[in-house]
Amino acid sequence: MGLKIDQAKCVGCEACVNICPGDLLYLNDQLRCEIRNQSECWDCMACVKSCRVGAIETKLPFSLANYGASLKPELKETSIEWICSYPNGEEERFTIPR
Ligand code: SF4
Ligand code: SF4
Repeated sequence: MGLKIDQAKCVGCEACVNICPGDLLYLNDQLRCEIRNQSECWDCMACVKSCRVGAIETKLPFSLANYGASLKPELKETSIEWICSYPNGEEERFTIPR
């Protein structure tokens, strides 16, 4: 699938860096998160769920959603609300207990 990291939202907290089981994430010279190699990411979503400011989203493949669709969580106290965003601006939301 692949990650999209919003550098403007990233606050450099390193939560994602510390949780990635593949050691794929790092902070660049501006202390913003980057991924070393997209092809080595196995889409475990741990980094996506760890980011408290919503700076990381997962790009969905065409086989799962329309081209350009992405998936991002909003962390609630007792649940995670997954937001699927489509290029036409539409959204679908799925709530899963934590
Ligand atoms: S989705 Fe998993 S493997 Fe990929 S960068 Fe995030 S934590 Fe690492
Ligand atoms: S968890 Fe979010 S804010 Fe923290 S370093 Fe990663 S992308 Fe940036």
